Amino acid sequence: MCEEQGTMTTPLDFFSYRSGILSAEEVPLTRIADDVGTPTYVYSTEGFLAPLRELQAGLAGLDSLICFAVKSNSNLAVLKLLSDAGAGMDLVSGGELFRAQRAGVPSHRIVFSGVGKSPGEMAQALEAGIFSFNVESVPELEVLNEVAIKMGLRAPVALRFNPDVDAKTHPYISTGLKKNKFGLERKEILAVAAGLHGYEGIELRGISIHIGSQLLSLKPLDDAFSRVRTLMKELEPVLPEPLQFVDLGGGVGIRYDDEKPPRLKDYCKLIHKHFGARARLKHPLKILIEPGRTLSGNSGVLLTEMMYRKKRGKKDFVVVDAGMNDLIRPALYGSWHSIVPVEERHRKSRQMRTSDIVGPVCESSDCFASDRPLAAELETGELLAVLSSGAYGFSMSSNYNTRARPAEVLVQGASFRVIRERETYEDLIRGENP
Ligand SMILES: *Cc1c(COP(=O)(O)O)cnc(C)c1O
Repeated sequence: MCEEQGTMTTPLDFFSYRSGILSAEEVPLTRIADDVGTPTYVYSTEGFLAPLRELQAGLAGLDSLICFAVKSNSNLAVLKLLSDAGAGMDLVSGGELFRAQRAGVPSHRIVFSGVGKSPGEMAQALEAGIFSFNVESVPELEVLNEVAIKMGLRAPVALRFNPDVDAKTHPYISTGLKKNKFGLERKEILAVAAGLHGYEGIELRGISIHIGSQLLSLKPLDDAFSRVRTLMKELEPVLPEPLQFVDLGGGVGIRYDDEKPPRLKDYCKLIHKHFGARARLKHPLKILIEPGRTLSGNSGVLLTEMMYRKKRGKKDFVVVDAGMNDLIRPALYGSWHSIVPVEERHRKSRQMRTSDIVGPVCESSDCFASDRPLAAELETGELLAVLSSGAYGFSMSSNYNTRARPAEVLVQGASFRVIRERETYEDLIRGENP
Protein backbone atom coordinates (compact mmCIF):
# COMPACT_ATOMS: atom_id res chain seq x y z
CA MET A 1 0.00 0.00 0.00
CA CYS A 2 1.02 3.58 -0.63
CA GLU A 3 2.88 4.56 2.56
CA GLU A 4 2.78 8.31 2.82
CA GLN A 5 -0.93 8.47 2.07
CA GLY A 6 -1.62 5.84 4.69
CA THR A 7 -4.58 3.74 3.98
CA MET A 8 -6.86 3.94 0.99
CA THR A 9 -6.54 2.18 -2.31
CA THR A 10 -4.76 3.60 -5.34
CA PRO A 11 -4.70 2.28 -8.93
CA LEU A 12 -1.34 0.52 -8.65
CA ASP A 13 -1.52 -0.89 -5.12
CA PHE A 14 -2.12 -4.44 -6.31
CA PHE A 15 -0.70 -4.19 -9.82
CA SER A 16 2.94 -3.36 -10.40
CA TYR A 17 5.68 -3.59 -13.02
CA ARG A 18 7.83 -6.67 -12.52
CA SER A 19 10.75 -7.11 -14.88
CA GLY A 20 9.17 -4.44 -17.05
CA ILE A 21 5.73 -6.09 -17.33
CA LEU A 22 2.61 -4.89 -15.53
CA SER A 23 1.58 -7.73 -13.23
CA ALA A 24 -1.35 -8.57 -11.03
CA GLU A 25 0.30 -9.64 -7.80
CA GLU A 26 2.97 -11.97 -9.26
CA VAL A 27 1.31 -12.79 -12.58
CA PRO A 28 2.39 -10.81 -15.68
CA LEU A 29 -0.63 -9.55 -17.60
CA THR A 30 1.03 -10.72 -20.82
CA ARG A 31 0.61 -14.30 -19.58
CA ILE A 32 -3.08 -13.78 -18.95
CA ALA A 33 -3.54 -12.21 -22.40
CA ASP A 34 -1.77 -15.21 -23.99
CA ASP A 35 -3.87 -17.77 -22.11
CA VAL A 36 -7.28 -16.10 -21.93
CA GLY A 37 -7.25 -13.44 -24.66
CA THR A 38 -8.54 -9.87 -24.47
CA PRO A 39 -10.50 -7.94 -23.38
CA THR A 40 -10.34 -9.49 -19.91
CA TYR A 41 -11.02 -8.22 -16.41
CA VAL A 42 -8.14 -9.16 -14.11
CA TYR A 43 -8.60 -8.99 -10.34
CA SER A 44 -6.15 -9.25 -7.46
CA THR A 45 -7.28 -11.34 -4.48
CA GLU A 46 -5.31 -9.10 -2.14
CA GLY A 47 -7.02 -6.09 -3.74
CA PHE A 48 -10.33 -7.18 -2.20
CA LEU A 49 -8.95 -8.55 1.06
CA ALA A 50 -6.56 -5.76 2.09
CA PRO A 51 -9.21 -3.02 2.36
CA LEU A 52 -11.65 -5.49 3.95
CA ARG A 53 -9.11 -6.35 6.64
CA GLU A 54 -8.45 -2.68 7.16
CA LEU A 55 -12.13 -1.93 7.74
CA GLN A 56 -12.43 -4.95 10.03
CA ALA A 57 -9.45 -3.71 12.07
CA GLY A 58 -10.79 -0.14 12.10
CA LEU A 59 -14.16 -1.27 13.44
CA ALA A 60 -12.69 -3.64 16.04
CA GLY A 61 -14.37 -3.16 19.39
CA LEU A 62 -17.74 -2.51 17.76
CA ASP A 63 -20.34 -5.15 17.02
CA SER A 64 -20.02 -4.68 13.27
CA LEU A 65 -20.87 -6.29 9.95
CA ILE A 66 -19.30 -5.25 6.65
CA CYS A 67 -21.76 -5.94 3.83
CA PHE A 68 -20.10 -5.81 0.41
CA ALA A 69 -22.26 -3.98 -2.17
CA VAL A 70 -22.74 -6.83 -4.63
CA LYS A 71 -23.70 -4.51 -7.48
CA SER A 72 -20.13 -3.20 -7.67
CA ASN A 73 -18.71 -6.63 -8.59
CA SER A 74 -21.01 -9.60 -8.46
CA ASN A 75 -18.84 -12.48 -9.68
CA LEU A 76 -19.49 -15.61 -7.59
CA ALA A 77 -15.78 -16.09 -6.88
CA VAL A 78 -15.49 -12.53 -5.58
CA LEU A 79 -18.54 -12.97 -3.34
CA LYS A 80 -17.18 -16.25 -2.01
CA LEU A 81 -13.76 -14.74 -1.38
CA LEU A 82 -15.21 -11.87 0.63
CA SER A 83 -17.75 -14.03 2.42
CA ASP A 84 -15.06 -16.50 3.49
CA ALA A 85 -13.16 -13.52 4.90
CA GLY A 86 -16.15 -12.61 7.08
CA ALA A 87 -18.05 -10.12 4.93
CA GLY A 88 -21.80 -10.01 4.48
CA MET A 89 -23.56 -8.71 1.37
CA ASP A 90 -25.73 -5.72 0.47
CA LEU A 91 -28.15 -6.64 -2.31
CA VAL A 92 -30.38 -4.66 -4.62
CA SER A 93 -32.23 -7.45 -6.44
CA GLY A 94 -33.48 -11.02 -6.23
CA GLY A 95 -30.84 -11.91 -8.80
CA GLU A 96 -28.14 -10.72 -6.42
CA LEU A 97 -29.72 -12.79 -3.63
CA PHE A 98 -29.51 -15.82 -5.91
CA ARG A 99 -25.83 -15.08 -6.48
CA ALA A 100 -25.10 -14.57 -2.78
CA GLN A 101 -26.78 -17.88 -1.97
CA ARG A 102 -24.85 -19.67 -4.73
CA ALA A 103 -21.65 -18.20 -3.30
CA GLY A 104 -22.56 -19.62 0.11
CA VAL A 105 -23.05 -16.31 1.93
CA PRO A 106 -24.86 -16.94 5.24
CA SER A 107 -28.36 -15.35 5.18
CA HIS A 108 -27.90 -13.65 8.52
CA ARG A 109 -25.17 -11.53 6.90
CA ILE A 110 -27.38 -10.25 4.05
CA VAL A 111 -29.22 -6.94 3.76
CA PHE A 112 -31.53 -6.00 0.89
CA SER A 113 -31.57 -2.36 -0.32
CA GLY A 114 -33.22 -0.63 -3.29
CA VAL A 115 -36.30 1.48 -4.05
CA GLY A 116 -38.16 -1.07 -6.15
CA LYS A 117 -38.27 -4.48 -4.47
CA SER A 118 -41.03 -6.60 -5.98
CA PRO A 119 -43.33 -8.81 -3.87
CA GLY A 120 -41.63 -11.83 -5.43
CA GLU A 121 -38.20 -10.60 -4.39
CA MET A 122 -39.50 -9.86 -0.89
CA ALA A 123 -40.85 -13.40 -0.54
CA GLN A 124 -37.57 -14.83 -1.83
CA ALA A 125 -35.58 -12.86 0.77
CA LEU A 126 -38.01 -13.68 3.61
CA GLU A 127 -37.75 -17.33 2.69
CA ALA A 128 -33.96 -17.05 2.81
CA GLY A 129 -34.11 -15.42 6.24
CA ILE A 130 -31.96 -12.36 5.53
CA PHE A 131 -30.75 -10.01 8.27
CA SER A 132 -32.71 -6.97 7.14
CA PHE A 133 -34.71 -5.20 4.44
CA ASN A 134 -33.67 -1.58 4.01
CA VAL A 135 -37.09 -0.14 3.21
CA GLU A 136 -37.24 3.03 1.16
CA SER A 137 -40.90 4.09 1.09
CA VAL A 138 -44.21 3.68 2.92
CA PRO A 139 -45.89 1.86 -0.01
CA GLU A 140 -42.96 -0.58 -0.04
CA LEU A 141 -43.37 -1.13 3.71
CA GLU A 142 -47.06 -1.88 3.18
CA VAL A 143 -46.35 -4.46 0.50
CA LEU A 144 -43.59 -6.08 2.59
CA ASN A 145 -46.00 -6.20 5.54
CA GLU A 146 -48.61 -8.03 3.45
CA VAL A 147 -46.10 -10.45 1.95
CA ALA A 148 -44.72 -11.30 5.41
CA ILE A 149 -48.17 -11.79 6.94
CA LYS A 150 -49.14 -14.11 4.09
CA MET A 151 -46.04 -16.18 4.80
CA GLY A 152 -46.71 -16.17 8.56
CA LEU A 153 -43.48 -14.26 9.17
CA ARG A 154 -42.30 -10.90 10.44
CA ALA A 155 -39.92 -9.04 8.15
CA PRO A 156 -36.84 -7.54 9.83
CA VAL A 157 -36.68 -3.94 8.64
CA ALA A 158 -34.42 -0.91 8.70
CA LEU A 159 -36.01 2.27 7.39
CA ARG A 160 -33.75 4.08 4.95
CA PHE A 161 -33.45 7.65 6.08
CA ASN A 162 -32.75 10.38 3.55
CA PRO A 163 -30.75 12.82 5.70
CA ASP A 164 -30.82 15.56 3.05
CA VAL A 165 -27.06 16.14 2.98
CA ASP A 166 -25.09 16.93 -0.14
CA ALA A 167 -22.49 14.23 -0.72
CA LYS A 168 -20.67 16.55 -3.14
CA THR A 169 -20.18 13.77 -5.64
CA HIS A 170 -21.34 13.19 -9.23
CA PRO A 171 -25.08 13.94 -9.51
CA TYR A 172 -25.72 10.44 -10.90
CA ILE A 173 -24.28 8.83 -7.78
CA SER A 174 -25.54 11.26 -5.15
CA THR A 175 -28.40 9.72 -3.21
CA GLY A 176 -28.82 11.53 0.11
CA LEU A 177 -30.55 14.73 -1.02
CA LYS A 178 -34.24 15.38 -0.62
CA LYS A 179 -34.55 15.65 -4.40
CA ASN A 180 -33.15 12.10 -4.89
CA LYS A 181 -35.48 9.14 -5.15
CA PHE A 182 -33.90 7.31 -2.21
CA GLY A 183 -35.08 6.85 1.35
CA LEU A 184 -37.70 8.30 3.68
CA GLU A 185 -37.81 11.75 5.23
CA ARG A 186 -37.58 12.26 8.99
CA LYS A 187 -41.31 13.05 9.27
CA GLU A 188 -42.27 9.90 7.38
CA ILE A 189 -40.09 7.74 9.61
CA LEU A 190 -41.56 9.25 12.79
CA ALA A 191 -45.07 8.65 11.42
CA VAL A 192 -44.30 5.02 10.57
CA ALA A 193 -42.82 4.49 14.04
CA ALA A 194 -45.90 5.96 15.70
CA GLY A 195 -48.16 3.69 13.66
CA LEU A 196 -46.05 0.56 13.90
CA HIS A 197 -48.82 -1.47 15.57
CA GLY A 198 -50.59 -1.30 12.20
CA TYR A 199 -47.81 -3.38 10.63
CA GLU A 200 -48.10 -6.85 12.10
CA GLY A 201 -45.71 -8.31 9.54
CA ILE A 202 -42.92 -5.84 10.26
CA GLU A 203 -40.29 -5.81 12.95
CA LEU A 204 -38.51 -2.45 12.95
CA ARG A 205 -34.92 -3.13 13.94
CA GLY A 206 -32.80 -0.34 12.53
CA ILE A 207 -32.20 2.78 10.49
CA SER A 208 -30.11 2.82 7.32
CA ILE A 209 -28.58 5.51 5.17
CA HIS A 210 -26.49 5.70 2.01
CA ILE A 211 -25.77 9.22 0.83
CA GLY A 212 -23.84 8.58 -2.37
CA SER A 213 -20.85 7.00 -4.00
CA GLN A 214 -17.19 8.01 -4.45
CA LEU A 215 -17.27 10.39 -1.46
CA LEU A 216 -14.05 12.39 -1.28
CA SER A 217 -14.69 14.02 2.07
CA LEU A 218 -15.89 12.74 5.43
CA LYS A 219 -17.80 15.95 6.15
CA PRO A 220 -21.10 14.89 4.54
CA LEU A 221 -20.89 11.54 6.36
CA ASP A 222 -20.19 13.34 9.63
CA ASP A 223 -23.33 15.43 9.08
CA ALA A 224 -25.39 12.43 8.03
CA PHE A 225 -24.27 10.36 11.05
CA SER A 226 -25.25 13.24 13.36
CA ARG A 227 -28.66 13.40 11.76
CA VAL A 228 -29.11 9.65 12.14
CA ARG A 229 -28.31 9.89 15.84
CA THR A 230 -30.74 12.74 16.31
CA LEU A 231 -33.44 10.78 14.53
CA MET A 232 -32.76 7.66 16.59
CA LYS A 233 -33.09 9.72 19.78
CA GLU A 234 -36.42 11.06 18.58
CA LEU A 235 -37.57 7.53 17.84
CA GLU A 236 -36.68 6.14 21.27
CA PRO A 237 -39.79 7.21 23.17
CA VAL A 238 -42.06 6.19 20.28
CA LEU A 239 -40.84 2.62 19.76
CA PRO A 240 -41.92 -0.38 21.83
CA GLU A 241 -38.42 -1.90 21.57
CA PRO A 242 -35.07 -0.14 21.18
CA LEU A 243 -33.50 -0.24 17.72
CA GLN A 244 -30.79 -2.87 17.35
CA PHE A 245 -28.66 -1.63 14.50
CA VAL A 246 -27.72 1.20 12.21
CA ASP A 247 -26.61 0.66 8.62
CA LEU A 248 -24.32 3.50 7.54
CA GLY A 249 -24.23 2.69 3.81
CA GLY A 250 -21.24 2.67 1.51
CA GLY A 251 -19.66 5.27 -0.66
CA VAL A 252 -16.15 6.05 0.59
CA GLY A 253 -14.18 7.07 -2.50
CA ILE A 254 -11.02 5.58 -3.95
CA ARG A 255 -8.22 7.11 -5.93
CA TYR A 256 -8.58 6.90 -9.72
CA ASP A 257 -6.21 9.78 -10.47
CA ASP A 258 -4.91 12.23 -7.89
CA GLU A 259 -8.04 12.51 -5.73
CA LYS A 260 -7.57 12.58 -1.98
CA PRO A 261 -10.25 10.24 -0.67
CA PRO A 262 -10.64 9.81 3.08
CA ARG A 263 -8.37 7.27 4.70
CA LEU A 264 -10.25 4.18 5.82
CA LYS A 265 -8.77 4.62 9.29
CA ASP A 266 -10.34 8.07 9.58
CA TYR A 267 -13.65 6.78 8.24
CA CYS A 268 -13.68 4.11 10.94
CA LYS A 269 -12.75 6.71 13.56
CA LEU A 270 -15.76 8.75 12.49
CA ILE A 271 -17.98 5.72 13.01
CA HIS A 272 -16.50 5.19 16.47
CA LYS A 273 -17.06 8.87 17.28
CA HIS A 274 -20.77 8.67 16.50
CA PHE A 275 -21.64 5.12 17.49
CA GLY A 276 -18.75 3.75 19.59
CA ALA A 277 -18.30 3.50 23.34
CA ARG A 278 -17.59 7.22 23.77
CA ALA A 279 -20.82 8.15 22.02
CA ARG A 280 -22.67 6.96 25.17
CA LEU A 281 -25.68 5.59 23.37
CA LYS A 282 -28.47 4.39 25.63
CA HIS A 283 -28.42 0.99 23.91
CA PRO A 284 -25.35 -0.35 22.10
CA LEU A 285 -26.00 -0.68 18.39
CA LYS A 286 -24.76 -3.17 15.86
CA ILE A 287 -23.02 -1.22 13.07
CA LEU A 288 -23.38 -2.21 9.43
CA ILE A 289 -21.56 -0.63 6.50
CA GLU A 290 -22.06 -1.35 2.79
CA PRO A 291 -18.80 -0.65 0.96
CA GLY A 292 -18.66 -1.52 -2.73
CA ARG A 293 -16.01 0.42 -4.62
CA THR A 294 -13.81 0.67 -1.51
CA LEU A 295 -13.29 -3.10 -1.68
CA SER A 296 -13.49 -3.72 -5.41
CA GLY A 297 -12.47 -0.56 -7.29
CA ASN A 298 -8.71 -0.81 -7.27
CA SER A 299 -8.70 -4.60 -7.16
CA GLY A 300 -9.29 -4.89 -10.91
CA VAL A 301 -8.06 -3.75 -14.30
CA LEU A 302 -9.51 -4.17 -17.77
CA LEU A 303 -6.83 -5.70 -19.98
CA THR A 304 -7.23 -4.73 -23.63
CA GLU A 305 -5.27 -5.00 -26.87
CA MET A 306 -4.55 -2.14 -29.19
CA MET A 307 -5.99 -2.67 -32.65
CA TYR A 308 -5.42 0.44 -34.75
CA ARG A 309 -3.81 3.84 -34.62
CA LYS A 310 -5.68 6.47 -36.60
CA LYS A 311 -3.69 9.63 -37.16
CA ARG A 312 -5.67 12.87 -37.15
CA GLY A 313 -3.44 15.95 -37.32
CA LYS A 314 -2.19 16.73 -33.83
CA LYS A 315 -4.10 13.87 -32.25
CA ASP A 316 -4.29 10.11 -32.70
CA PHE A 317 -7.20 7.81 -32.10
CA VAL A 318 -6.03 4.59 -30.53
CA VAL A 319 -8.67 1.92 -31.11
CA VAL A 320 -8.64 -0.90 -28.55
CA ASP A 321 -10.57 -4.18 -28.45
CA ALA A 322 -12.55 -3.29 -25.29
CA GLY A 323 -15.61 -1.10 -25.68
CA MET A 324 -18.17 0.85 -23.70
CA ASN A 325 -20.24 -2.33 -23.47
CA ASP A 326 -17.40 -3.83 -21.38
CA LEU A 327 -16.74 -0.74 -19.22
CA ILE A 328 -19.36 1.97 -19.38
CA ARG A 329 -18.19 4.31 -16.60
CA PRO A 330 -16.36 6.82 -18.83
CA ALA A 331 -19.34 7.03 -21.22
CA LEU A 332 -21.96 7.09 -18.45
CA TYR A 333 -20.35 9.41 -15.87
CA GLY A 334 -17.45 10.92 -17.79
CA SER A 335 -15.30 9.16 -15.22
CA TRP A 336 -11.51 9.15 -15.40
CA HIS A 337 -9.45 5.95 -15.54
CA SER A 338 -5.70 5.77 -15.76
CA ILE A 339 -4.69 3.77 -18.87
CA VAL A 340 -1.17 2.36 -18.98
CA PRO A 341 0.86 0.20 -21.36
CA VAL A 342 1.55 -3.29 -20.02
CA GLU A 343 5.16 -3.00 -21.17
CA GLU A 344 6.88 -0.53 -18.92
CA ARG A 345 9.35 0.74 -21.54
CA HIS A 346 6.42 2.44 -23.34
CA ARG A 347 5.69 4.53 -20.26
CA LYS A 348 9.00 6.29 -20.57
CA SER A 349 8.89 6.76 -24.32
CA ARG A 350 10.63 9.89 -25.62
CA GLN A 351 7.93 10.30 -28.23
CA MET A 352 4.51 10.81 -26.81
CA ARG A 353 1.41 11.46 -28.93
CA THR A 354 -1.74 13.06 -27.63
CA SER A 355 -4.31 10.30 -28.02
CA ASP A 356 -7.97 9.45 -27.55
CA ILE A 357 -8.33 5.83 -26.49
CA VAL A 358 -11.55 4.54 -28.00
CA GLY A 359 -13.47 1.29 -28.37
CA PRO A 360 -15.05 -0.36 -31.41
CA VAL A 361 -18.70 0.34 -30.50
CA CYS A 362 -20.69 2.50 -32.89
CA GLU A 363 -21.22 5.43 -30.52
CA SER A 364 -19.12 8.58 -30.20
CA SER A 365 -19.30 8.17 -26.44
CA ASP A 366 -17.34 4.90 -26.74
CA CYS A 367 -14.22 6.66 -25.54
CA PHE A 368 -12.24 5.58 -22.48
CA ALA A 369 -9.97 8.60 -22.33
CA SER A 370 -9.36 11.84 -24.23
CA ASP A 371 -6.16 13.75 -24.86
CA ARG A 372 -3.82 11.40 -23.03
CA PRO A 373 -0.12 11.25 -23.80
CA LEU A 374 0.65 7.78 -25.14
CA ALA A 375 3.86 6.38 -26.61
CA ALA A 376 3.97 6.93 -30.38
CA GLU A 377 5.60 3.55 -30.99
CA LEU A 378 2.64 1.63 -29.49
CA GLU A 379 1.27 -0.41 -32.37
CA THR A 380 -1.28 -3.09 -33.16
CA GLY A 381 -1.09 -5.97 -30.71
CA GLU A 382 0.30 -4.02 -27.74
CA LEU A 383 -1.49 -4.46 -24.44
CA LEU A 384 -2.99 -1.67 -22.37
CA ALA A 385 -4.59 -1.81 -18.92
CA VAL A 386 -7.50 0.37 -17.88
CA LEU A 387 -6.84 0.73 -14.16
CA SER A 388 -9.34 0.96 -11.28
CA SER A 389 -11.91 -1.12 -13.16
CA GLY A 390 -12.84 -3.60 -10.42
CA ALA A 391 -16.01 -1.76 -9.38
CA TYR A 392 -18.96 -1.09 -11.71
CA GLY A 393 -16.92 -2.60 -14.55
CA PHE A 394 -18.05 -6.08 -15.50
CA SER A 395 -21.19 -5.71 -13.37
CA MET A 396 -22.40 -2.86 -15.62
CA SER A 397 -21.34 -4.54 -18.86
CA SER A 398 -23.78 -5.34 -21.65
CA ASN A 399 -23.97 -7.07 -25.00
CA TYR A 400 -24.54 -3.85 -26.94
CA ASN A 401 -23.45 -4.20 -30.58
CA THR A 402 -23.88 -7.95 -29.95
CA ARG A 403 -20.47 -8.10 -28.38
CA ALA A 404 -19.61 -11.05 -26.17
CA ARG A 405 -18.70 -9.92 -22.68
CA PRO A 406 -15.11 -10.33 -21.49
CA ALA A 407 -13.64 -13.11 -19.39
CA GLU A 408 -12.86 -12.46 -15.72
CA VAL A 409 -9.68 -13.72 -14.07
CA LEU A 410 -8.75 -13.82 -10.38
CA VAL A 411 -5.08 -13.75 -9.45
CA GLN A 412 -3.68 -14.98 -6.16
CA GLY A 413 0.06 -14.73 -5.71
CA ALA A 414 1.72 -16.47 -8.64
CA SER A 415 -1.39 -18.27 -9.89
CA PHE A 416 -4.60 -17.27 -11.61
CA ARG A 417 -7.88 -18.80 -12.66
CA VAL A 418 -10.73 -17.87 -14.97
CA ILE A 419 -13.70 -17.01 -12.75
CA ARG A 420 -15.97 -16.26 -15.69
CA GLU A 421 -15.52 -17.64 -19.17
CA ARG A 422 -15.58 -15.26 -22.10
CA GLU A 423 -19.07 -15.31 -23.62
CA THR A 424 -19.60 -17.20 -26.86
CA TYR A 425 -21.84 -16.36 -29.82
CA GLU A 426 -24.25 -19.02 -28.55
CA ASP A 427 -24.44 -17.20 -25.18
CA LEU A 428 -25.40 -14.07 -27.10
CA ILE A 429 -28.61 -15.51 -28.55
CA ARG A 430 -29.65 -17.73 -25.62
CA GLY A 431 -33.38 -17.47 -25.02
CA GLU A 432 -34.20 -15.81 -28.34
CA ASN A 433 -36.95 -17.28 -30.50
CA PRO A 434 -36.46 -16.58 -34.20
C1 LIG B 1 -24.41 1.30 -4.47
C2 LIG B 1 -24.69 1.19 -3.03
C3 LIG B 1 -23.65 0.96 -2.11
C4 LIG B 1 -22.20 0.90 -2.50
O1 LIG B 1 -21.69 2.09 -2.97
P1 LIG B 1 -20.12 2.25 -3.20
O2 LIG B 1 -19.94 3.63 -3.62
O3 LIG B 1 -19.70 1.28 -4.24
O4 LIG B 1 -19.46 1.96 -1.87
C5 LIG B 1 -24.00 0.80 -0.79
N1 LIG B 1 -25.29 0.86 -0.37
C6 LIG B 1 -26.30 1.09 -1.22
C7 LIG B 1 -27.69 1.14 -0.71
C8 LIG B 1 -26.04 1.26 -2.57
O5 LIG B 1 -27.05 1.51 -3.41
